[in-house]
Amino acid sequence: MKQSQLFTKTRKEAPSDEVSKNAELLIRGGFINKEMAGVYSYLPLGLKVMKKIENIIREEMNAIGGQEIVMSSLQEKETWEPTNQWSDAEVDIWFKTKLKNDTELGLAVTHEAPITKMLKGFLNSYRDLPFSVYQFQTKFRNETRAKSGIMRTREFVMKDLYSFSKDEEQHLEFYEKCKQAYVNIFKRAGIGHLTYLTFASGGMFSKFSHEFQTITSAGEDIIYVDENKGIAINKEVYNDEVIESLGLSKESLVENKAVEVGNIFTLSTRFSDALDLTYQTEAGEKKSAFMGSYGIGPARLMGTVVEVLSDDKGIIWPESIAPFKVHLLSLGEDVEVIKSANEVYEELVKKNIEVLFDDRVGIMAGEKFADADLLGMPYRVVVSTRSLKENGVEVKKRTEEKGSVISREELIKVLTNKN
Ligand code: ATP
Ligand code: MG
Repeated sequence: MKQSQLFTKTRKEAPSDEVSKNAELLIRGGFINKEMAGVYSYLPLGLKVMKKIENIIREEMNAIGGQEIVMSSLQEKETWEPTNQWSDAEVDIWFKTKLKNDTELGLAVTHEAPITKMLKGFLNSYRDLPFSVYQFQTKFRNETRAKSGIMRTREFVMKDLYSFSKDEEQHLEFYEKCKQAYVNIFKRAGIGHLTYLTFASGGMFSKFSHEFQTITSAGEDIIYVDENKGIAINKEVYNDEVIESLGLSKESLVENKAVEVGNIFTLSTRFSDALDLTYQTEAGEKKSAFMGSYGIGPARLMGTVVEVLSDDKGIIWPESIAPFKVHLLSLGEDVEVIKSANEVYEELVKKNIEVLFDDRVGIMAGEKFADADLLGMPYRVVVSTRSLKENGVEVKKRTEEKGSVISREELIKVLTNKN
């Protein structure tokens, strides 16, 4: 893509009411636009990142047998009443609305009840189980605090997967697979080294739920990390008994601020009991399906990556989710430079290497460099009179201080090598 064609522009300043680093950098880079507090639009560069994150998640969910669907955002009051979750006292983040005939509706906070109800039309026998269903779907939550940029918004896409099993044993088998899939996802998205499987409160149905918490000063949670074992305990369940039951010791636990990037939850039969989602057992008896739910917020993940992988100049995208692998810069008005840069661009496009080409004229070199740092593509490739004098292009990784001039053939090799 040519930067001269990109309708978004970089900005020197973020809106003065923006307090989070992730939103500040993403707005300055033109990845997102702030519509109002806690509500953002995704612009071409930001949407590319989102789609890549979604695809990583989709691949991992498909690999454990998840079947993708999309459910509606408009939900019926009656669906949530059996579990008492229509009540504003129980769930205090609903956005509610009404039909013209005064029928009350809610905008999806989550989907446990609607999916349970929907599946009544499909589940019959133990032979149908286990299975799992997931979606990337817009949730609405009237969050009180919306000061964390795209990490906590009032409208966001969630990947929510729900599993349905015969019994606890079958459920746990899937639960473990999903846990591993989550480990893969956060690793592939570039934050595996900062993300810990965290024991958190399990609600009424299991001792613990598992959160995936990424250490960052931008996080709103407190966790206690055992670095060697690679696990953590959420402050909400942190006490001597829990520490001991997990085989940990207080001395090796370190307190950190962290953000919940995902969670996995045993629901047991809470929803299937309440909404009568049953199947026929081998013995011909009627039994409630045993359920689990598994959430990830792709935008929260994107915001977390920006928080933990950036420097004072801008974002540092991991290659797996960068909008483009390469930011190609053409410096100056020299016709040879422009010709050569265009040739490099065509060649990268032909080789299917994703490239953003800063072909803008009348923009100073310093400004182009600053934009490249802000936008954070993994590789910066510069064509200038200087690089042409050395018969090549200058290539520099975003994480490196200094680049080096190499030939155009060499460049293709560098960029097509998996690393
Ligand atoms: P939190 O405690 O941080 O509010 P939660 O426990 O409400 O999160 P879930 O309802 O389980 O989270 O949602 C599943 C996932 O969706 C979370 O792990 C997180 O990644 C994401 N998520 C939750 N709330 C938001 C939000 N307001 N904005 C963006 N992503 C969110
Ligand atoms: Mg919440």
